[in-house]
Formats: sequence, structure tokens, C-alpha cells
Amino acid sequence: MAILSRPHAGAAERWGPADEESTLLKQATPTSGTTMDRTTDLWAFFRGGFVPLRDANVSVMTHALNYGTAVFEGIRAYWNADQKQLYAVDLEPHYDRIIRSGRLLLMEVPYSASEMAETTVELLRRDGLQEDVYVRPLIYKSSELIGVRLHNLDADFTIFAIPFGKYIDTDTGVRAQVSSWRRTDDNAIPARGKVTGAYVNSALAKSEAQMNGYDEAIVLTQDGHVSEGSAENLFIVREGTLITPSVTDNVLEGITRSRLIGVAGDLGIPVVQRSIDRTELYQADEVFLCGTGAQVSPVVEIDRRPVATGRPGPLTVRLSRLYFDAVRGRLDAYRSWLTPIY
Ligand code: PMP
Repeated sequence: MAILSRPHAGAAERWGPADEESTLLKQATPTSGTTMDRTTDLWAFFRGGFVPLRDANVSVMTHALNYGTAVFEGIRAYWNADQKQLYAVDLEPHYDRIIRSGRLLLMEVPYSASEMAETTVELLRRDGLQEDVYVRPLIYKSSELIGVRLHNLDADFTIFAIPFGKYIDTDTGVRAQVSSWRRTDDNAIPARGKVTGAYVNSALAKSEAQMNGYDEAIVLTQDGHVSEGSAENLFIVREGTLITPSVTDNVLEGITRSRLIGVAGDLGIPVVQRSIDRTELYQADEVFLCGTGAQVSPVVEIDRRPVATGRPGPLTVRLSRLYFDAVRGRLDAYRSWLTPIY
């Protein structure tokens, strides 16, 4: 099962036939097939300066690698070919969130949100990409020592960016499974923080779903209410009202989630934030997932039951189109989300 690069790794280590394995990999891999070959052209912000991405490496003793003690973000920048412009989406809200996540791990972040946003702009200018991009900032416990704790450790900040297409299918819709894995609780590993180690929870759910033949997982809270997707927030539609789990239902407080709540307000669509029962998923008129990676992705089937007609619902399609127009810089009303790079 493990995809390890070590001498003499035998075929028995692999899970399933080779083509199945590459399908699994492909689903979360940038659609731009040559990305990995292009790291030589890309830059990273690392240890206070810009270095070639291939030289941005840490020691195996790094605390964050050993204990999952890093916080991170996922930010997208969209290429608008007509305008020959690359638009980074919601830079400051993402950096505000990474600072808040860092606080949970007792991290003193030596940069302000606007400084980190400016560094991102400079990085993207250096990379000079003319296609959609995914930006990955990390603040990680950089001390090289053994010892489980959060205090008295150094932290460092790094950013890299790679060309990136769709994370999950936003056109035909997602087939989801309610996971047998529960979401980590606020009193265990807070979902409110975007902490690297916590993503083992997401990865357990995502792999279970994909190895069972679904595209995505929907995870429930410890008390059995709907929390979110493996790396996306969730909305349902019932009788014209958008309903999404409240921020106390162990969700990441998603930036796309709050943007869509704002857009719905602009369109006069009522939004309610409250706990959602599992069976409401089966009875909903529409269900969709949203996030920086997932964008707005209709869910068309849950636990082998079609969601309503089994096709993307009208409100989902409307919000999805509007979101894509907004992030590509085609809607003046939502220009404030965007930072032009060039
Ligand atoms: N929930 C989880 C667990 C996530 O990892 C993400 C992706 N960051 C989201 C929700 C969506 O958040 P955002 O819209 O800020 O990308």
C-alpha cells in the first residue's frame, strides 16, 4: 500500500493494481501533468528569503515532521487569459487564519498577515506562471529535537506555489460516503485550526471513501451530526434555504463558506447555520461541498442514494458559476476578494 521510495521496495507493498493506484493519486494531484518536472523553474520563500523550490528542504529531525506540529493554508490564484492576469483569492483572510491556527500551537508568527500576503505576491511574480496556481504557506515547528510539546520551540514560515487544476470534479458531481471515521473534536484536535497533524483524520476518511469507490467522504461529529467533507465545508438546500453546520460543529471555518454566505445574502437567498442530521443529507433538495480546493462541488449521490434527481441542483449550479466568475476576476462586485499578481 505504501508508496515508498526505498531500495528493494517490492510489488507486494502496493495496494491494488497499478492503474488503480495511479487513479487514486491522480484524483488529488495537480491536473497539469508535468508539475513535478517543473519544480526546477519554481521558487519558495524559505528561511527568510527566496530560494529555488528544489532547495527548500528541512532536516528529518524537524519537530513538525515528527509530530505534525505545523499550520498551513491552501490558497488559489486563477489565471484570466483574456485579461492576461493572475488573481490570488482572499490572501489576507487566509493569512489571518494561519495566524489564528498558529496561536493554537503556541506559535509566535514574526510576520503580519499583510506581510505574508505581500511575500506571496512576490513569490508568484517570480514563478511567472500563466495558469491556475495553488499556494501552500506553512508555519512549522522548526526546532530539530525530540520531545512532544508545543512550548519553547522555534517556528519558521515558508511558502511555495505549484500549477494546479481541479481538486475534485465540479461539473458532473461528487459521489460521497458518510465516513466511518468521526471528525476530531474541539477538545481533541481542534478542527478550527488548520493543523497538519490533524489531516490524518481527513486522510483516513478520504482514503476510506476512495478505496470504497466513492469520490469523497462526509464526516460526522462525535455526536453524529454532519460536520464537513474531508477538506471541504458542506451546504444542503431545503425548500430554498441554504443550511450549513455551525462553526461549533467541528468544522474548519472555511473562507469559501463565508464568501458563499455573503453571496447568498446578496442574492436574497436565506442561509441558516445549525447542526444538520445525517438523514437530512438523504432528504435534501441539493447538497454541495465548497472550499479553496473543491471550489463549489455538487454532491449527486450519498451512500448510494441519489441526492434529489441525482444531478447538480439549480442553486448549486448558480452559486458555482458565480463563484468561478468572481475568482477569475469577471465580476466587479467581488473584485475585493482578489489580488492581481501582474
Ligand atoms: N474544511 C477543511 C477540513 C479544509 O481542509 C478546507 C480547505 N481549507 C475547508 C473546509 C474549506 O476551507 P476554505 O474555503 O478556507 O478553503
